[in-house]
Amino acid sequence: MKTFFHVDMDAFFVSVEELFDPSLKGKPVVVGGQPDERGVVSAASYAARKFGIHSAMPLRTAYKLCPQAIFVDGHRERYLEYSEKVFVVLQQFSPRVEMASIDEAYLDLTGTERLHGPPLAAAHRLHEAMRRGTSLNCSIGASTSRLVSKVASDQAKPNGVLWIMPGGEARFLGPLDVRKIPGVGKVTERNLHACGIRKVRDLAALEEAFLEERFGKWGLALAGKARGEDAGGWFDGEVGEGDDPKSISHEHTFSVDTADTTAIDAMLVRLAEMVARRLRDHKLWTRTVQIKLRYSDFSTFTRAKTLDHATQIDTELAEAARALFHRAWSGKAIRLLGVYAQSLEADEGQTNLLEEEKTERWRKTLKAVDRLRDKYGDGTVSLAASLKAGFRARVHENPENLPGKTPKKEE
Ligand SMILES: [Mg+2]
Repeated sequence: MKTFFHVDMDAFFVSVEELFDPSLKGKPVVVGGQPDERGVVSAASYAARKFGIHSAMPLRTAYKLCPQAIFVDGHRERYLEYSEKVFVVLQQFSPRVEMASIDEAYLDLTGTERLHGPPLAAAHRLHEAMRRGTSLNCSIGASTSRLVSKVASDQAKPNGVLWIMPGGEARFLGPLDVRKIPGVGKVTERNLHACGIRKVRDLAALEEAFLEERFGKWGLALAGKARGEDAGGWFDGEVGEGDDPKSISHEHTFSVDTADTTAIDAMLVRLAEMVARRLRDHKLWTRTVQIKLRYSDFSTFTRAKTLDHATQIDTELAEAARALFHRAWSGKAIRLLGVYAQSLEADEGQTNLLEEEKTERWRKTLKAVDRLRDKYGDGTVSLAASLKAGFRARVHENPENLPGKTPKKEE
């Protein structure tokens, strides 16, 4: 019998901000920027959520819903620091920990009963240890599958523990809305509703063949999920297998939509630099560069390119990103730009021998640059083109590109 926990920090960004400014406690707080800015909400406190504010909503909309909310800028370095503390606590309970995002993780506790006791007792101990170790609240779901544990931690919020006993999975999931199943987004929900399927039990009652015919492979995964199994793209690997991120990305929302080629090029280079920096921090190389562009009317395009060799070098990423952009760009004003590194590798693979000397020189330069950045902050050293890019990093509590966050078949 397997035992999995899903541990999810409660209102993580807001709670971390509260540690630095206790006067925020209990108030409607919006993390992500100021109300007159163009970006989106990174996180909202429970008090702010009561007004209908949620993450990814434009800051201005949040302000309209709740003008008395306190708007604070996000502090990525604080969240990373606390995410690290969360990880340290989790590791005391199992060596098999998979951080699914900055503030949530799966733990495989299979076979630890002699050490930690039955799942519910272990979950309570972890809950207390998290409070002691981080001064933060979390919610924990425990069950025989990651899927059920994830749904359970959500039901346990805020600051709760919920254990679904073996054999009780279907009874627990049955009465919930289909939307509660991880990976079921707006589009799938709409499609399921159109078939008269509203609750998980409706889904579980269907023939697999019907779901497969209707939704393809994703339908089969759905059928498994409805039964409480770790089915489909979310849970391909074992917990703790490959802790590396599957993709690294940075996005920027312009404060004023722009069609200015210089400003756009500068931002692409800046984003590429940030991605490259994180690749080097993680000792990863990328083989696929992807860009995302969103126009004023919110129409959004992505374009990807596979490189002939894996890289972690600013200029190579920037060059690829710019080439992709200029091939895809209609010339209309841009609202958002993103640069993504995918197909990540833990080593360079086959080095392009001809490029090696040039590459080696770059690597040395970049090492020095990274050292300077560590010392004086990220904005200090920058490739020339990015100097003009007025830059502001945006962080999201639930970024879409973390391992475990994005089902392979959806929307
Ligand atoms: Mg959370």
